Amino acid sequence: MNKLTVHGTRPYQIIIDKGLRYSIAEWLKPFRFNKIAIVTDEQVAPFYLLDLKSQLSQSYDVFDYVIPEGEKSKNIDQFESIITFLSENYFDRHSAIIALGGGVTGDLAGFVASSYMRGIGFVQMPTTLLAHDSSVGGKVAINHHYIKNIIGHFYSPNIVLYDYEMLDTLSSLQFRSGFAEVVKHSYLMPDPLHEMIAEVNDFTQMTSYEIENILTQSILVKKQIIEQDEYEQNLRQVLNLGHTLGHAIESVYSEYKVTHGEAVMIGILFDLYLSDQVQKRRDPFFHEGLLHWLTTLGYSLNLAEWRCDSLIQAMKHDKKNQTGNITCILLENMGKPYAKTFSINELNKLLVKFVERLN
Ligand code: NAD
Ligand code: ZN
Repeated sequence: MNKLTVHGTRPYQIIIDKGLRYSIAEWLKPFRFNKIAIVTDEQVAPFYLLDLKSQLSQSYDVFDYVIPEGEKSKNIDQFESIITFLSENYFDRHSAIIALGGGVTGDLAGFVASSYMRGIGFVQMPTTLLAHDSSVGGKVAINHHYIKNIIGHFYSPNIVLYDYEMLDTLSSLQFRSGFAEVVKHSYLMPDPLHEMIAEVNDFTQMTSYEIENILTQSILVKKQIIEQDEYEQNLRQVLNLGHTLGHAIESVYSEYKVTHGEAVMIGILFDLYLSDQVQKRRDPFFHEGLLHWLTTLGYSLNLAEWRCDSLIQAMKHDKKNQTGNITCILLENMGKPYAKTFSINELNKLLVKFVERLN
């Protein structure tokens, strides 16, 4: 078991352990919630909802609310339906919501928890690898039509309970997607995460010990960054490494159902390539060995047909941008990220060269 504490306006603990769901009632005792609603999705519910309910029903009035799986659930209609459900069941300010699921469930349930009666109890129980990122840091949100995360709050959970045994049922596609955020974190702080993940060549062969340590180190990176910039005034934007091009790929290639992590992995490679070019590094971040490792792990690093113009257009909408330029997160060195702004023309040329290198 590993425990971390995130310091900030509302400090909270993150507990990382195998089988943690069987001791959930113990972990929640200090909060004295009077009633609990478990929000989960239709794919997670058949695996874990009963486990949780049977543990909690001995001490609490327990309700559950199951949403359809996937990004489409992060909308205003689901938000409203859950609020109705809570009020019909007389939830009050001493009640709590447990988000049992991936980033979609966590973001939606957290946004409800932050809004209902101006804020009720909120517990994160991540069930995807990606949610080691999304469940930490207090960002909760829903989408507005096609604008992602545009309606949201900063609302820290009371506690994050990460039972990584639940990752056993996650598809390899989703595991790979979440691992991209681990790779991202590994570049943001100097060792030891980078060395630890270099040992991984096959996700199915990872031991519990490895998973627990890698998860803990990856969360630690995020924790150290958000503690210095809880409300994303400046430093926190380095967590966006890989996401300028990543988000653009997700929007331009939406018909191919590219996962977030797969898009971000190409985005990370692009930011590494940019770092090499800007600093004329002799010891480049972007090299054949890295491409080989990522391919071994199953990442597809090429797109069916590169639409550079559309990607640049999409990158213009990135939230880090100011005054018509495009901002990317680069590395000065291992563990030393910084934001760098490019003109549209300059970035276009670099993207074309990057694509040539990848092909
Ligand atoms: P997700 O919640 O949709 O989960 C991915 C898929 O895995 C879903 O189909 C889900 O049903 C399934 N699943 C989840 N756990 C499972 C398990 N244990 N076994 C079997 N299947 C399981 O998506 P995600 O990738 O976890 O998260 C993506 C979301 O996170 C996006 O909406 C993104 O905006 C958000 N996000 C938020 C933050 C933040 O700081 N709040 C950060 C990064 C991403
Ligand atoms: Zn991401």
